[in-house]
Amino acid sequence: MYSSSTAAGNRLYVYEVVGLSQNGNTDSLDYSIRQSGSVFFTVPYSRMNQEMRRISRLGGKIVSIKPLNGIAPVQISADRSPAPQVIAEPPKVQEKTPAKAMTQAKEKTEIPVNLYRPNNPFIGKCIENYSLVGEGGIGIVQHLTFDLSAGNLHYLEGQSIGIIPPGTDANGKPHKLRLYSIASTRHGDKLDDKTVSLCVRQLEYQHPETNETVYGVCSTYLCNLEVGADVAITGPVGKEMLLPEDEDATIIMMATGTGIAPFRAFLWRMFKEQHEDYKFKGLAWLIFGVPKTANILYKEELEKIAAEFPDNFRLTYAISREQQNSEGGRMYIQHRVAENADEIWNLLQKPNTHAYMCGLKGMEDGIDQALSGAAAKNGAEWSAYQKQLKKEHRWHVETY
Ligand code: FAD
Repeated sequence: MYSSSTAAGNRLYVYEVVGLSQNGNTDSLDYSIRQSGSVFFTVPYSRMNQEMRRISRLGGKIVSIKPLNGIAPVQISADRSPAPQVIAEPPKVQEKTPAKAMTQAKEKTEIPVNLYRPNNPFIGKCIENYSLVGEGGIGIVQHLTFDLSAGNLHYLEGQSIGIIPPGTDANGKPHKLRLYSIASTRHGDKLDDKTVSLCVRQLEYQHPETNETVYGVCSTYLCNLEVGADVAITGPVGKEMLLPEDEDATIIMMATGTGIAPFRAFLWRMFKEQHEDYKFKGLAWLIFGVPKTANILYKEELEKIAAEFPDNFRLTYAISREQQNSEGGRMYIQHRVAENADEIWNLLQKPNTHAYMCGLKGMEDGIDQALSGAAAKNGAEWSAYQKQLKKEHRWHVETY
């Protein structure tokens, strides 16, 4: 939840639940009244979504939610699975959490995986599909948002979802799913826990033999998707790119192109949303490689965060067709990493520094090379050091 322990955060709500197993583990809920098959729970606002998911897991169906002080209840249709995203009354003001709340023990966040599989995907609706490439930019990259309110699909920052394009492949079989990194936080772009967003580049290449232009099946389908259209979604999947809960961590993010997607989610969570249990105070550093300024995806959002949080967010671009590296060639992400290699190396010495890489498959080698020099200066061998970082779950890679 993005509320804090404000008046809204402390408010209590009563859930009416049916179909709950009497033997289920309901111990953390205030399990107060029972009548005619319904069970009533009193839940603080700050735990609403968590308890919704818990009730769902226990097989229960929430049929109404109402504030304890008795305003009209929120009715939930009984003919569908519980909708964990429903929020009875979101807080209007986002206030800072008092220091006391920050000392409370944190609860372990569960990682949702494969809530929807290809044989029974979630059908979401496209509610937004807009271009992320400015005039004069290269290629087509779209930001898409899907409505999840009709089901139970939820996710964490850094996970991916699968999209199954309609139709069949060359063998007449239904298309297989394609994975896309989630570009929104768990709360979604509308901050109501009811949406998921993606950042999709239309695949376009020249056929090596015929020289014909070929367009990717799923990326073309998504980039051209109409608002209001249904989309088959699977997942979520992925544990590699999750954000640590440590509020003081240093998070180094290296992205090329649509590899920005998980980092947009990280940055929104760190800087744009307010949370009771996560107040980022560390350093986030994004090194972002694109061909042209017009291809800087989410440029305004990124630069706004950089302007508002200069002590906690650093933004470094590598714009290959507009900037030159020290040797006069194109400026790729590995050149920016090389320029900053000593500092990155020093940051990696802190046990709460995490490095992330996301985007084009080819980016890994250059970055390894860039960091090898800094490691050698410090008497270390980069590949052995990187292995250790991976073992400590501090070096995260998702390239495609
Ligand atoms: P397809 O129709 O499946 O065509 C792809 C095939 O075309 C390739 O397998 C290859 O055979 C061929 N091909 C591709 N390029 C060339 C070339 N230059 N020359 C010759 N043949 C070629 N994509 C995003 O846009 N955004 C994301 O956030 C994103 N996240 C991802 C996360 C993960 C974990 C993974 C694994 C992939 C991610 N992708 C992302 C890539 C995405 O899954 C698809 O692979 C991509 O959209 C292409 O799918 P398609 O159906 O359009 O192409």
